[in-house]
Amino acid sequence: MSERIMTEPTEPTEPTGPTGPTEPTGPTGPAGLAGKAAELDAADPLAACRELFTLDAGTVYLDGNSLGALPSHVPARMQEVITREWGALRIRSWEESGWWTAPERIGDRIAPIVGAGPGTVVVGDSTSVNVFKALVAAVRTAVADRDEILVDAATFPTDGYIAESAARMTSRRLVPYTPGDPIGPRTAAVLINHVDYRTGRLHDLPGLTAAAHAAGARTVWDLCHSAGALPVGLAAHGVDFAVGCTYKYLNGGPGSPAFLYVRPGLQSSFDSPLPGWNSHADPFGMTPEYHPATGAPRGRVGTPDILSMLALESALDVWDGVSIKDVRAKSLVLTDFFLECVRHLPVEPVTPAPHAERGSQVSLRCDNAGAVMKELISRGVVGDFRQPDVLRFGFTPLYVGFGDALRAARILGEALG
Ligand SMILES: *Cc1c(COP(=O)(O)O)cnc(C)c1O
Repeated sequence: MSERIMTEPTEPTEPTGPTGPTEPTGPTGPAGLAGKAAELDAADPLAACRELFTLDAGTVYLDGNSLGALPSHVPARMQEVITREWGALRIRSWEESGWWTAPERIGDRIAPIVGAGPGTVVVGDSTSVNVFKALVAAVRTAVADRDEILVDAATFPTDGYIAESAARMTSRRLVPYTPGDPIGPRTAAVLINHVDYRTGRLHDLPGLTAAAHAAGARTVWDLCHSAGALPVGLAAHGVDFAVGCTYKYLNGGPGSPAFLYVRPGLQSSFDSPLPGWNSHADPFGMTPEYHPATGAPRGRVGTPDILSMLALESALDVWDGVSIKDVRAKSLVLTDFFLECVRHLPVEPVTPAPHAERGSQVSLRCDNAGAVMKELISRGVVGDFRQPDVLRFGFTPLYVGFGDALRAARILGEALG
């Protein structure tokens, strides 16, 4: 790391070095961009986090918003879980290895990342299942004569399907909602994706939560594309319910269990539509009557998927000493830089330019996007394609650098040309 660059980060440097003297120079020419990438990488306080992940030098991995990369220490931990906790201790591990309390314990590790207090987050089941629990519970705690559920009109499909079923079960009408539209007196609950999975648009969680509350409605936020990517502030903004993925920006592994947040003031009235035995106040009492547990465990259902859950717990170690504010700061500079690098290419940014409206991905529209993404992947730039014409590039600040962004943009230029 160069001290000169560290202490003078805003000083423009002459484009020299890696790209050679025959490249056009100037601040936005390829040589200028290479110099800028090197400077930004050298000044990046999160640069060392990359070493914590298993990544190969030949690939630029920009799909962490779909499946986060593997933290390198997880396999050894899983070896121990399988051979010692399962293999040797067997059933004793429910107690001795802390398996039984893992959903709440791991919830407490995720809580600070999304701005929630201890005892408010529980881990388990998929995001889809947690959307169901949260939305039905939101309607059950809403004012009784409110007969509408609003759902983000551009929602990730599973939320929409589940909301339709939840509306049918609770005899409410499902109404598509564009975040920012007025919320009326008939609304029981509003389900919104914090960051749009397709466009990368970030919605105004504080403002929309306040607007829903002013209209007397409950809020359910889906944090799949914001948890681990930016500060969420669940407690500070008074969000009622939230759910989120752990296999995207939290790197928990394929299908790792999701999380559910219930605001402290609603925990005692939280009426789960899936009251399994794991959420019972006395699960081993094995009584025919159901008495819900207090606190976060009330969001549990059945026996937790311990292997996935413990892989997630281990993966969360990469957050030790990391500030989500630093993650956000880098994410914005990184996505700005990538947008600058693709500025002259025949692509149309779909992701909003204002920082207040941008998550941690860049979506670009272009002709033949599906074929372009296949070509990119074959050349070691891994993003993904979403119907009908969107290239998605996820920027996970813990392991993606500015040199990666530049390389991805250059290869995109070649694939398009
Ligand atoms: C990824 C994602 C999901 C995934 O739900 P699963 O139940 O884990 O398959 C749900 N909602 C949103 C907004 C997502 O981005």
